[in-house]
Amino acid sequence: MRFRPRRLHTTADISRGGKEPILGRIKGIVSAVVLLGALYLGLGICADLAVNLVPPRTEAQWFAWAEDMVEPTLPVPDDLQLVFNKLILDSQLDDFPYHLVYLPSEDINAFALPGGMIAVTQGLYENVRTAEGRALVLGHEIGHVQHRHGLQRIGRSILLAGALSLCGVDTATVLKRSQFLADLQFSRSQESESDDFGLRLVHRTFGTTLGSLEFFENLESLQVDSNDTLQGQLGTFLRTHPRTSDRLEDLRALAEELDGA
Ligand SMILES: [Zn+2]
Repeated sequence: MRFRPRRLHTTADISRGGKEPILGRIKGIVSAVVLLGALYLGLGICADLAVNLVPPRTEAQWFAWAEDMVEPTLPVPDDLQLVFNKLILDSQLDDFPYHLVYLPSEDINAFALPGGMIAVTQGLYENVRTAEGRALVLGHEIGHVQHRHGLQRIGRSILLAGALSLCGVDTATVLKRSQFLADLQFSRSQESESDDFGLRLVHRTFGTTLGSLEFFENLESLQVDSNDTLQGQLGTFLRTHPRTSDRLEDLRALAEELDGA
């Protein structure tokens, strides 16, 4: 007898072979990505809405632990504390327990934690010399707290971790406390919102925005300049903030509007 190969469609293999399984797999991956994207966006919207239901004092209690991770600290220089107090008291920003800490670091940086702690480094203090220039940096950080930006970012992580754990994914690392601080980088729109808040606060407190752009103007010239030491000191700030020239453009336009009013 001659061997007669069976035609493919009569074998036990019910797959249709060729391109279709690959196509099917791609479709599967695409739908999983779309689903995860939708989940992330949906959770983000829920988190943003939910943060407004959290009273500021409760937010401060939740994140009291985070402050222990910001150390060591030095006594805050008097002139810096005075500017900070003026910004807070003049605008009666008393919903959060605002307080300032001073870090012995050469890095030129400032940041805010959810709950009202604002941190300024020695490097920033020594490189931004005027009260108005320091006021805008402080006002920007206060803006992040007032707009609940930290809680929004962390809220997304918590909700995403919760959703993933329901799907059986190990989320222990997502929920590591130290990770929260490392992840506390804000979006471009959150940075713009804080710039806007900060400059309006400076104008309300000092009656003018004159001199307040010192830090951003210095920063712009430093980015063009290739001073290695300063570039190194600014490393964290530059990595975590949008392009200075874009921010300066927006700030200058707002300054003109506020001072011209
Ligand atoms: Zn910022």
